[in-house]
Amino acid sequence: DENRVVLELPSRPENVSIARLVVAQMAAQLQFTVAEVEEVKVAVSEAVTNAIVHGYRGRAGIVRVEVCARPGELEIAVSDQGVGIEDIDLARQPAWSTDPERMGLGFVFMENFMDSVEVESRPGHGTRVVMRK
Ligand code: ATP
Ligand code: MG
Repeated sequence: DENRVVLELPSRPENVSIARLVVAQMAAQLQFTVAEVEEVKVAVSEAVTNAIVHGYRGRAGIVRVEVCARPGELEIAVSDQGVGIEDIDLARQPAWSTDPERMGLGFVFMENFMDSVEVESRPGHGTRVVMRK
């Protein structure tokens, strides 16, 4: 028994809130606590923002958000067909960013707020982040 919702969002900053709303609603259906729902919202916001800002670098593209609710688990996959990540381990380091204006904390939030975070990426092809809670 699973409920699977797929969003294809144009890479515009205002669409981060749409991903957040859908994910929050699906988490609520799984009887996540209010605090847990907030954590999932932060994690998905960070992943979608990364796809827009880093993956597509402000250019037009589609951010795909797949949300799968099954008994006891919410799985969220955020993917882009942007520039990709050269060194995933480095990118996941706390306070590491390719943008000096940024904090480099997005992956830290995802890891702290979700039970698992997997990152797959191919430079020049794109990035996929799968998170479970
Ligand atoms: P913050 O999230 O605090 O604003 P940040 O986005 O730089 O800063 P992270 O979210 O932890 O920090 O990401 C670390 C780095 O990983 C980014 O600076 C970027 O180089 C790379 N990165 C993350 N997601 C993507 C993506 N979807 N496509 C390309 N590069 C990415
Ligand atoms: Mg980020």
